Amino acid sequence: MAGKLRFSYHTRLFFLLLGFSWILVGCFVAFQYHREKIYKVEKLNGELQLYNAHLIDALCTDSIDFNATIARQRLPMAGLRVSVINTDGTLVFDNTLDSLPGENHLNRHEINDAMRSGSGFSLRRHSVSTDRTYFYSATRRDNLIVRSAVPYSVSLQEVLDADSSFLWFMAAVTLAISILGYFATRSLGRTISRLNRFAEKAEKGENVYDVGAFPHDELGSISTHIIRLYARLQQTMTERDREHRNAIHEQQEKTRIKKQLTNNINHELKTPVASIKVCLETLLDHRDLPPDKHWKFVEKAYRHTERLANLLNDVSAITRMDDGAANIEKEPLDLREIIDDIDLSVADQLRKAGITLCMKVPDNTVITGNRTFISSIFRNLIDNAIAYSNGTTITVQLDDESATSYTFSISDDGTGIPEEHLERVFERFYRIDKGRSRLIGGTGLGLSIVRNAVQLHGGTIYAVNVRPHGVKFIFTLAR
Ligand code: ADP
Repeated sequence: MAGKLRFSYHTRLFFLLLGFSWILVGCFVAFQYHREKIYKVEKLNGELQLYNAHLIDALCTDSIDFNATIARQRLPMAGLRVSVINTDGTLVFDNTLDSLPGENHLNRHEINDAMRSGSGFSLRRHSVSTDRTYFYSATRRDNLIVRSAVPYSVSLQEVLDADSSFLWFMAAVTLAISILGYFATRSLGRTISRLNRFAEKAEKGENVYDVGAFPHDELGSISTHIIRLYARLQQTMTERDREHRNAIHEQQEKTRIKKQLTNNINHELKTPVASIKVCLETLLDHRDLPPDKHWKFVEKAYRHTERLANLLNDVSAITRMDDGAANIEKEPLDLREIIDDIDLSVADQLRKAGITLCMKVPDNTVITGNRTFISSIFRNLIDNAIAYSNGTTITVQLDDESATSYTFSISDDGTGIPEEHLERVFERFYRIDKGRSRLIGGTGLGLSIVRNAVQLHGGTIYAVNVRPHGVKFIFTLAR
């Protein structure tokens, strides 16, 4: 962009308009002034020509005494100088001179014209004979030229000058044009200046908040459109940048979680693998162990193998879920059927723990979801209640349903979860009592899998402790 302009657009436009109007008015005044002057000169010349013509008529009938003839004629104005000249250029009479000069008058401008065309005048010429300046008007008929002359005094000058009131009138018109021009260009200039400021800001990529009203004309409408377009473009770009940042953040978060998961898995794998190794080494090194001790080590190795299998299952579930919702298959599922199946498969554990499962989910509670993940939600929560609650009842209940979702709760009447752990139990590998969790084959991934599966089905989950004791997991699933 060029350097800063010294004058605003309004000032330049105004002075341009002013210049044009002044030149126009000036030309008009000059032309009119000239025309008026010509008209006045012609009028004076006409009067003198008329007088000359009358005088020639009189001289033709009575040419003996010039003075007497001229005295008989009524002078058109006081102080008129009258001369009679022969066509050979000799002055034969002049009422202002006592002695006539012998000089030839044919070279005088008005005489010359009268010789050629019958009449002529000189606007302002100095007379050598009288040493004065005159307005001359000459008329020729046959071989006689009559010339009348008005002394060129200040009063004649004033008569011949154009009317000065016309000049004042035109000056007033010019002033009015200038004032009107100032206001007309000011509105236009303001719009242009605002557009200019907007363009400078847009070039620097600044935010433009100047969306105030423009005048109701074409330029105002164009300006409004341009600024609105730019604001919309800015908004789109801001949104795009935000989405881009979010995408990068999401990607970074995914990478961080994956890395954390890998570290945790390594850590979790170490214990069971080390334990299995110790068991197998003991069995290999002490082949003569008594059978009861021998089987104790085999059982221990088996339990750790089972834990390893659980861990691998959970990790594979989490990895599948992390790959995204787009990859999981969904189908219509009858939830009551799924929960009944779980009930059946945990019947043994329930009996051993002395727990009753209370089912409050009606038949035909149907959602579109992934069988494995939906099943793992209910399975994990029921398994946890059996494993950790130390209670006597587990209730699975449909709390609420809407056109778009179901709200379920799974509660027990056990020990509950200390308040400070309530939110964190959903984190990966988070356990309240590590030793106990390991003992019962827990991986610390169960509730994390539950939360991911709920989210993949458009829902949310949280846990609350209930009175007098126990914990309640409340979650929603989109239908
Ligand atoms: P884990 O594999 O250890 O079971 P989870 O993620 O399923 O891991 O559970 C996390 C922790 O939450 C458990 O270690 C346990 O201490 C606690 N917990 C989960 N459910 C209950 C419950 N119903 N009652 C009490 N504590 C529970």
